[in-house]
Amino acid sequence: PGTQLPPDPSKKTVVVLGSGWGATSFLKTLDTDEYNVVVVSPHNYFLFTPLLPSCAVGTVSLRSIIQPIRYVTRFKKRQVTVIEAEAKEVDPVNKTVTFHDNSVIKGEVVSTTMPYDYLVYAVGAETQTFGIPGVKENACYMKELGDAEKFRENMMDCIETAAFPGQSDKEIDRLLHMVVVGGGPTGVELSGELHDFLVDDLKYWYPELASRLRITLIEALPTVLPMFSKQLISYTESTFKENKIDILTKTMVKEIKPNAVVVQKEDKSLVEIPFGLLVWAGGNKARSITVDLMKALGAAQAGKRGLAVNDHLEVVGAEGSIWALGDCTSTSYAPTAQVASQQGGYLARQFVQMAKKDALERDLQVLRAGAGSEGGIEDAKKVEGALERMRKFAPFSYSHQGSLAYIGSDKAIADLPIFGQGNLATGGVATYLFWRSAYISTLFSLRNRVLVSTDWLATKLFGRDVSRE
Ligand code: FAD
Ligand code: NAD
Repeated sequence: PGTQLPPDPSKKTVVVLGSGWGATSFLKTLDTDEYNVVVVSPHNYFLFTPLLPSCAVGTVSLRSIIQPIRYVTRFKKRQVTVIEAEAKEVDPVNKTVTFHDNSVIKGEVVSTTMPYDYLVYAVGAETQTFGIPGVKENACYMKELGDAEKFRENMMDCIETAAFPGQSDKEIDRLLHMVVVGGGPTGVELSGELHDFLVDDLKYWYPELASRLRITLIEALPTVLPMFSKQLISYTESTFKENKIDILTKTMVKEIKPNAVVVQKEDKSLVEIPFGLLVWAGGNKARSITVDLMKALGAAQAGKRGLAVNDHLEVVGAEGSIWALGDCTSTSYAPTAQVASQQGGYLARQFVQMAKKDALERDLQVLRAGAGSEGGIEDAKKVEGALERMRKFAPFSYSHQGSLAYIGSDKAIADLPIFGQGNLATGGVATYLFWRSAYISTLFSLRNRVLVSTDWLATKLFGRDVSRE
């Protein structure tokens, strides 16, 4: 574990906001010898989001896909301070960040403001609702750990309520109708996992109800998964058809009532579809703290999707003091874990370089102060040359490793780039095994790998748990 040292006044203070894909990758790669590092996040753990839909139906358990952020920081060379708090405001002029303790148990101090030299802004995004009435009140999301927990609880509640004696047929059909809105990867993967739960477990535990459970996926665009190749879109659609998952494309959700969703069909007609449980997976939007930061930076940040950054990930309008990465930014890259983690690694390497540059600048000052001797001038020239080379730190460049998604019934789809030769589009059971091995290898720690593998085995042997907490 790192030595418990107070902040070193000779070193710059880096405040990192977030403990997700971007922030964690930054922290893993950063040489903390060179900086005072403080991490602020409302969650004291890293969440492996790709397995969240699996958690929602109990294929893997919640604790298996999280890892305390202190697991990264405590093995760093110098102490890294971790604070469980939600950042509420960034002041880019005075270079401060204000954060609050939002947890249930409060101490005497619940809010504080901290100065930073460098801010690494990686707070992710929140779920986009487009202001559609009833989404917040009547839908579940699928973004955070608590969302998977709530989904599972509500899903089992729907099933047990449908089993309650005396329910009418109409009410049973409503309670057993699971609707997923959003045909992006989140909505597709969740629908696939729901299907597995139905076929593998509900049929066994609730034989009288299982055949009545229906899954509907609603998507406004003409197809699901627009980011995948045509071949994989049709493979997914035909797999869903076989699995009796209804896909309603060109169907726009207009309102979500407590027990029914109002959709607009292609012909503009409005239809009300009753449901027991509805999951909203409508995409990303900027968090309010990000919107406020963009406003504070003025005209430099005119976009809507997130923070504009330059090709070195510096926030436009706050160059040299704030860097942003991942889903909170607006770039040409898709908001994915792959992008965020590559950006985190890149930024950490840039910070190592910046520390070296600072050290050289200090050397140069000393050499210039003592200038006069011929050797001194020569040395100063060498240092200036080295400094010049350092200023040319390469811009961030993304290397796409491919897209993978699980679609249910032990099938997955993959769009994989092959050595600059275009894409390999593959789907099926072999791809599913590849999906599993790819996720196992990218899990955070050995502990996560062992837990997820054990969960998969336990699900195969004993099925998913249908008890409610
Ligand atoms: P996040 O990982 O969301 O991290 C944001 C962090 O900021 C969190 O720790 C959060 O607690 C913290 N935070 C929030 N607000 C504040 C605040 N005010 N102050 C301080 N900290 C704050 N991508 C893939 O590439 N492959 C996949 O298979 C894949 N599957 C996915 C499945 C699901 C269900 C979801 C929802 C997403 C998936 N993604 C996947 C997308 C991927 O999860 C995101 O692109 C990735 O998490 C972005 O990383 P990030 O660091 O920007 O944000
Ligand atoms: P998304 O933005 O990819 O998809 C949201 C979908 O919801 C869109 O297709 C949109 O048309 C639809 N939608 C929005 N409003 C609607 C409405 N009113 N009615 C009907 N449909 C509506 O969102 P996501 O699936 O949450 O993914 C977010 C990001 O995370 C993406 O970049 C995605 O690539 C990434 N991700 C990747 C994986 C993976 O690689 N396996 C898994 C999950 C998420």
